[in-house]
Amino acid sequence: MPELPEVETIVRGLARAIVGKTIESAEIRLPKMVIAPPRLSFPSAVAGERVTGVARRGKYAIVELASGHALVTSLRMTGRLVVAVKGEPESPGTHVILHFTDGARLRFSDVRTFGRMRLVRPGEAWDRELGIEPLSSGFTQEAFIGMLSGRTTPIKALLLDQRRVAGIGNIYACEALWEARIRPSRPAGILTKPATCRLRRAIVEVLQRAIEMRGTSVDDYVDADGLQGGFQNDLSVYGRNGRLCRRCGKSRIVRTVLAQRGTWWCRRCQR
Ligand SMILES: [Zn+2]
Repeated sequence: MPELPEVETIVRGLARAIVGKTIESAEIRLPKMVIAPPRLSFPSAVAGERVTGVARRGKYAIVELASGHALVTSLRMTGRLVVAVKGEPESPGTHVILHFTDGARLRFSDVRTFGRMRLVRPGEAWDRELGIEPLSSGFTQEAFIGMLSGRTTPIKALLLDQRRVAGIGNIYACEALWEARIRPSRPAGILTKPATCRLRRAIVEVLQRAIEMRGTSVDDYVDADGLQGGFQNDLSVYGRNGRLCRRCGKSRIVRTVLAQRGTWWCRRCQR
């Protein structure tokens, strides 16, 4: 499932590939994959639009259009946004294709069909429910302490809550908690100040490292050029059950279930 580093990688690739291009037409093969505001038809609203920028918010990729409208895409489990030229083979489950006037295409594919591409109006507050961006200057120590204070939710469940911190999913929550030596089930509000500081730093470092490696391909994720990421080779705990912990070298990584998600951690290092 693409998280912040994967979406950031896709967005950077899209920015290089499609900014300045004009959409000739939108080919929609599975209507539920696109959402338009009331009384607007998705294909006629985007036809003729020029792409002015590409951005990211949480796990959403945003294609900004000259009119001020934007295409906000959530990839959910298996969504992909890949730029292709005419004739290049399609990924399975290609449901939406934006055709550009120069022959390039943006293909939105999703085998499980949970993803959506939504047309939003200029200034529409579509991201009201999303929390702080962990790589922004607003993600300060004070802000993070305030967020955790008094909360009985397990720290891992809180990290996964997009209304608090936007963009962290299962992979990077597990990795950051291991890095910070914090047990995933600890109630968020009882973390000590030093532990909270370590965790905030770990979140930022893990996300930045993963972006440098162009994301983690443990499932369907590929970037905007259709290429896999590299961070799957650098994972410390995620998916490593039964393997020796890379830090203590004494305990084996266990997998438990927390908030209905597989959770990997070291019983010896994480307290
Ligand atoms: Zn360990």
